[in-house]
Amino acid sequence: MRINVHAGHNPDGKTACGAVGFIRESTEARRVKDEVISQLRQLGHTVYDCTCESGTSQADILNRIVTACNAHTVELDVSIHFNAGAKDTAGNGKTSGTEVFVYQSASEAKTYAQRVCEAIAELGFRNRGVKYNTSLYVLRKTKAPAMLIECCFVDDRDDAQLYHCQKMATAIVQGITGKAAVSEPGKTGAQETVAPGEETPVGNSKMLYRVQVVEQRGAFLVKENAEKLQAQLKAAGFDAIIIAS
Ligand SMILES: [Zn+2]
Repeated sequence: MRINVHAGHNPDGKTACGAVGFIRESTEARRVKDEVISQLRQLGHTVYDCTCESGTSQADILNRIVTACNAHTVELDVSIHFNAGAKDTAGNGKTSGTEVFVYQSASEAKTYAQRVCEAIAELGFRNRGVKYNTSLYVLRKTKAPAMLIECCFVDDRDDAQLYHCQKMATAIVQGITGKAAVSEPGKTGAQETVAPGEETPVGNSKMLYRVQVVEQRGAFLVKENAEKLQAQLKAAGFDAIIIAS
């Protein structure tokens, strides 16, 4: 297949970046996007990254994304976002979950959208299903069949704790292609940083435990070190969670 993939919004820290909660939409959407692209390429597909990294406004970002998408002849446009609005900061034990938008019921992207919803739901997220929206710019203006994936909610503690960048990407790829890429250790999109005093990674080399308050405070290869920082933050009055990726 020939596929356009992009992450929504500007990068974090720039104007018109995405939603922020336990995790940051712009950052996570880019991590998922990079992993999706790498897996699709491993499976032999031609993929174009249409992400905008320096838009001057929300309208400019959307315009640049669509211009990039329409410069290629593809069978599918994939837009990766994270949702917000759940406001479940305490964690009620239930995820708010995933949903995928297509332009209308007759969209050729609908089958892909359904499969993406199902694959993400397999990870444990609530399946909010495929939704139709004729006003979303990316769905309205792209030439190829398009879907906009809201992976999960940034402001639901349960979603953030269940979220795992590589698993999310694998589910999306499964939804697009009907099969999963063989994941190669060390070839993930995750940046594995070794914390001071952690010269030899003795943890699971593919798993990274990130401790976050709202902004990320540290990333560790060893889960106990992440738990240590979490405990320190809690003692200092911060409510922190660990996100494995
Ligand atoms: Zn978004």
